[in-house]
Amino acid sequence: MVCDYTGTAMAATKTSRATRRKAKKQGAPAAATRWTTRSSKGIRMLQVPAFSRIPWLVHGFSTRPGGASILEGKPALNLGFTEWDSRENVRENRHRFQSALGADKLALVPLLQFHSDSILCFDEPPTKPSRADASITNRPGLLLAVQTADCVPILLVDPRNRAVAAVHAGWRGTLQRIVTKAIGRMQMQFATQPADLLAAIGPAIGGCCYEVGTEVAAAFTAQFPNAAKFFDELRTGDEPNPLQWLNRMPPGHQPPPGKVLLDLPKANRLQLLEAGVAGKNIFASDLCTRCRTDLLFSYRKEASQCGRMMSVIGIRERGKARSMENR
Ligand SMILES: [Zn+2]
Repeated sequence: MVCDYTGTAMAATKTSRATRRKAKKQGAPAAATRWTTRSSKGIRMLQVPAFSRIPWLVHGFSTRPGGASILEGKPALNLGFTEWDSRENVRENRHRFQSALGADKLALVPLLQFHSDSILCFDEPPTKPSRADASITNRPGLLLAVQTADCVPILLVDPRNRAVAAVHAGWRGTLQRIVTKAIGRMQMQFATQPADLLAAIGPAIGGCCYEVGTEVAAAFTAQFPNAAKFFDELRTGDEPNPLQWLNRMPPGHQPPPGKVLLDLPKANRLQLLEAGVAGKNIFASDLCTRCRTDLLFSYRKEASQCGRMMSVIGIRERGKARSMENR
């Protein structure tokens, strides 16, 4: 099958007109050209131009290269506390990442993620990390963060009401519709209209690589009428659509063993659309974490020797926002 997530290398994420033309010629998906790679202080970050244009907003998706940690003999920007890395390294990496983003002044708000649909609204920096898988705020000075290494990071911004959200959606969170619920919380707390929202779906494991058991497919089928759209292909077995054979168990026969391929970014994109976010306002990275361990971390591929990327979003303090606007 065609791997939708591996076709474009870093070069295709630059936004120069020549690159865009070249990407079009090569048949690269248009969405790939909507992302930029920014290098600063030895660190590479992925950004969405539609977000970067908002003067009071700061955002970024970290990548693997650079950093104080060493993984497989190379410097790595591990931003999560893991067994194999020291806390000093992670703290130093977080400092470097914030500095490279120009977000030193903002208070980082990481979460203790547990694959839930728990969403927290922050008015001020918490004294210690809280258990949740999404955060929202409309207060300047906070840098909301989610950590991933295969799961889907989603950043949301409401430009009209100056509010932001960071969402961590693995298969469990996606099944629990965490991004839909985060939008619901923004509606309640900030009067956000979904049609105003911009959404960035960061690098995650793609439909090319994410094998799951049939029980996961069955769980999605029970929850989503359009679940067939998330499951691209069956890797083993003859049936093209896993959902057909999931429901078919001839007497005396076991269902085919095997795995199905789940396209988590697509499942979240469909949730965004159903929540009322405009298709033109959804920016999905086409990088697959498992295909691109040169650039990203993949828990599926690297297991315990795996780093964490961070996706962050925040509102700059007023003074700083104004000086940006005057530039
Ligand atoms: Zn892949």
